[in-house]
Amino acid sequence: MLQQTQVKTAIPYFKKFTKNYKTLKSLSKSSEKKILKLWEGLGYYRRARNLLATSKILVSQYNSKFPKTIKEIKSLPGIGDYTANALLGLVHDQPVIAVDGNVKRVFSRLINKQESKINFDQFIDINKIKLFNSKRNSDFVEALMEFGALICKPKDPKCNICNLKKNCKYFNSSKKIKINKRKMIEDKNYDVFCYLNKKKQIALTKKNNLGFLNQFNLPEICESKKNASTGNWKFLKRYRNSISNKKLNMNLYYKFSNKIPESFVWYSMEENKEFIPTFTKKIFRQVSILF
Ligand code: SF4
Repeated sequence: MLQQTQVKTAIPYFKKFTKNYKTLKSLSKSSEKKILKLWEGLGYYRRARNLLATSKILVSQYNSKFPKTIKEIKSLPGIGDYTANALLGLVHDQPVIAVDGNVKRVFSRLINKQESKINFDQFIDINKIKLFNSKRNSDFVEALMEFGALICKPKDPKCNICNLKKNCKYFNSSKKIKINKRKMIEDKNYDVFCYLNKKKQIALTKKNNLGFLNQFNLPEICESKKNASTGNWKFLKRYRNSISNKKLNMNLYYKFSNKIPESFVWYSMEENKEFIPTFTKKIFRQVSILF
């Protein structure tokens, strides 16, 4: 849950989750539908699917224990280098570092060298005696990430209260490196076509081929094309949405109709037992002004 999500946002979901699934086994036996419903609103739904797939693997292949080698951990669904190292440190107290953007910035400042010029694996290996001299490896993994987020921040690092300032080359240098600004994410334009009916229902399909939110309930969505005809669809409004690392401009079209294409199903815009992603719920809110 904490991949790409702040702790305070994840806490209520975590509580709800652990209340529903008290053991790994019970999680592994759950349906994807139920897991997605509990995850509703947290976003990045691939994580929920990966969690379910992982729980099944852990129960069937690892006797419900978490594997101990980086190779085995990385073979689990959705786990790359960063998460694998974080898990190895946090779960098994191993001397590892989960290298995320925060950690890269801390190291880069400590030696006052641009991130792009540092081979972080090599850096950790060369400095392992200095870095791993704690018996609390799991706390160290966590502390390093938090240190980057709270003290050695991207803008205005809190050097005056930093315990490392004596040995920090960035702090002590008159020629400080420039910290790379985050890359601006390109905006994309999408057209959304909503079939509506008088019962305050909207027709959704899982057959969009978007590359994101695949297999989820959405109206018809396609990338906007210049001068493309929108036929007898009525334009409602333009609004912005962010999903994963994309910034989207949505052009919302609608038509009232009782006939819908075959792969579409009517859904209430008020209450649904089935999981509806936040992205789709935002569309519900936009079109609800028509009722
Ligand atoms: S002294 Fe400043 S730049 Fe250096 S590690 Fe501490 S917060 Fe970061």
